[in-house]
Amino acid sequence: TNTIPLTALVDWLHRFHDAAVENRDWLTELDSAIGDADHGANMARGMTAVVEKIDQTTPATAGDLFKTVGMTLVSTVGGASGPLYGTFFLRLGTALGPVTEVEPAALAAGLRAGLDGIVARGKAEAGDKTLFDAVSPALAALDAALAEGADPAAATARAAVAAAAGRDATIPLVAHKGRASYLGERSAGHMDPGSASATLLLETLAAAVAG
Ligand code: ADP
Ligand code: MG
Ligand code: MG
Repeated sequence: TNTIPLTALVDWLHRFHDAAVENRDWLTELDSAIGDADHGANMARGMTAVVEKIDQTTPATAGDLFKTVGMTLVSTVGGASGPLYGTFFLRLGTALGPVTEVEPAALAAGLRAGLDGIVARGKAEAGDKTLFDAVSPALAALDAALAEGADPAAATARAAVAAAAGRDATIPLVAHKGRASYLGERSAGHMDPGSASATLLLETLAAAVAG
């Protein structure tokens, strides 16, 4: 069947942790250009706390898993990314509920609920030069792929490619949200750090779903 098992979702979080740690210096470098040079530290610290927590508590359902992830990020990451990623995972968990196998359409809807939570919290719109600019096109690509009958591995791979394109497209943008917006026009010419970490989120999802 095409359902995504809980073990793949747990694997996603481990892979995202590994990617955050491996890319910590790069994310910090991006944030040093247009922010306060802590995005790599924030994501690595948050995801380290997440894997410790889920390894200890072994949540039994997708809902419990992602609610634990969200609460851990909110409580361990200061700055914008903690509440934003935290809300994303809390909403994903609520949307998926007490299941151990996730239908592809339910995953897409849950990720969409997560993005809606980010928007409710941070009010980002397309082109504001935030992680929204990576996640939003990724979820559009995911929906389109699933509508065309792509399997979950192919659909999440297409989402990851769209995220990377959205990330790269933040470079010329002037920031309108977050610390980078304090720089005004001087924020142009730099990649948004959150769009870079969010692309890692989608790339690791695709890798975990592919198995
Ligand atoms: P801080 O800016 O508080 O130091 P981080 O450096 O960890 O937090 O995260 C910065 C990233 O958060 C930005 O690159 C951007 O992608 C994202 N971000 C900031 N504000 C918003 C917002 N209002 N909506 C969506 N994303 C945002
Ligand atoms: Mg920062
Ligand atoms: Mg900060």
